[in-house]
Amino acid sequence: MDVDEDPHQLFATRAWGCNVPGRRIIRPMATTRTESASQKKARALAVLEILKQTYPGAHCSLDFKNPLELLVATILSAQCTDERVNKVTADLFRKYRSAKDYATVSQEELETDIQPTGFFRNKARSIRAMANSLLEKHGGQVPNTMEELVELAGVGRKTANVVLGNAFGINVGVVVDTHVGRLAQRLGFTKSKDAVKVEQDLMPLFPQEDWTLLAHLLIYHGRKICTARRAFCETCPLNPHCPKIGVKPPAKKKV
Ligand code: SF4
Repeated sequence: MDVDEDPHQLFATRAWGCNVPGRRIIRPMATTRTESASQKKARALAVLEILKQTYPGAHCSLDFKNPLELLVATILSAQCTDERVNKVTADLFRKYRSAKDYATVSQEELETDIQPTGFFRNKARSIRAMANSLLEKHGGQVPNTMEELVELAGVGRKTANVVLGNAFGINVGVVVDTHVGRLAQRLGFTKSKDAVKVEQDLMPLFPQEDWTLLAHLLIYHGRKICTARRAFCETCPLNPHCPKIGVKPPAKKKV
């Protein structure tokens, strides 16, 4: 099949770090060819399949045993690594077992308990307000719809997506964090930097049952290969399927 007819190979001829015998490596550049909607969807499915094979154990890296724990852990994960959140919640979840526990603790005590996660004053306020909302509107239980979750104090669409997808197994959206946003751009699946728009661009490209897993896969890949500091395209299994939008080639070593 000619490369022009194969959407999976659409970018192969100009992928640096992906040498094709007999052809020169062409430097990365913004996509100049027009990719049809069906070609982009086929490419997205190829990317998904490779990521599934590359990261077969991809999962939510926040520790939790129930929806309330995941809700709290997700609020704590803002501007903080999941590893640090897990260290803090190991003790936190032994002390606080219900929405009432979070709603009735003093601001100062909760701040002390979550201090290592950073921004602890705002996070403590959000958690206490969220817990009060749960008590007032849902009998202390975490609801399982997007509409109800985003009405809780301190809960936005991203947090709601994390809880719905991972605690309830409900795919209503794609979690867009810094890794997902960056990879969606580099892979040419979005031109936007706005998380809501990125999510809207990603959803039609991937099967709904994979939306939660997709975010985990992109996060794994964003931590390991396509990092913010450098995209390691030369070792990336997505190389033949990636237009590398905005990616600069690695600087040549001085001899
Ligand atoms: S490292 Fe990132 S930019 Fe480079 S080929 Fe892989 S996904 Fe694309």
